[in-house]
Amino acid sequence: QGQNQAAAPKVLKVGAETTFPPFEFQDEKTKEYTGFDVDLMKAIGKQLGYEVQIASMGFDALIPALEAGQIDVIASAMTITDERAKKVNFSKPYYKSGLTIVVKADNNTIKSFKDLEGKRIAVQIGTTGAEEAKKIKDAKVREFNSASEAYMELKAGGVDAVVNDKPVNDYYLAQGGAKDAKTVGDILQAEEYGIATAKKNTELANKINQALDELKKNGEYDKIYQKWFGQ
Ligand code: GLN
Repeated sequence: QGQNQAAAPKVLKVGAETTFPPFEFQDEKTKEYTGFDVDLMKAIGKQLGYEVQIASMGFDALIPALEAGQIDVIASAMTITDERAKKVNFSKPYYKSGLTIVVKADNNTIKSFKDLEGKRIAVQIGTTGAEEAKKIKDAKVREFNSASEAYMELKAGGVDAVVNDKPVNDYYLAQGGAKDAKTVGDILQAEEYGIATAKKNTELANKINQALDELKKNGEYDKIYQKWFGQ
């Protein structure tokens, strides 16, 4: 036994809903989880001496899993909201986002959020998109387990629109969705994503904020941002 044998790295269990490209999804070839959040969490883990393990689950299961101690962190394009902040600690914002609408390419009646009144809308369960869609007058909101199922329902003609995060909508359209769908209108509301930790785990929350600061300073954050969102 060598004296310098490194101690096994501590594991950081990161919960995510892993069908949300480009933030967290499975690489088709390697089957590894990849995406902006995954790269960011790996970089944070490296800063803090953790090996990052992704635990995949439904978006609406993430906060309960964190509260139950089954995961240490949520990194899942999760918008910082007052409601959620009652249950979890959020890091400083790490990504600016917002909600947009996707409709079929040949739809000429829905041009803004106002036009969604009385319409059939597909959303992902437990998301800010679901919450906002439910506020629209007379809208028939259907909740799906993933954004991709919501897009499929739009394609199949079962709904008139999808309300979801702008970067995810844009990515879907850029990856081939634009063949039969488009985005319309302005961003409904500005949102910011945060990394969530358990209320009682303030030590980890502080460490994550420090790591984020460091990654912004040393250029690593920009590198990851460029990789996923640069042209
Ligand atoms: N940003 C949205 C929310 O927090 C959607 C996140 C997601 O579906 N992963 O509700």
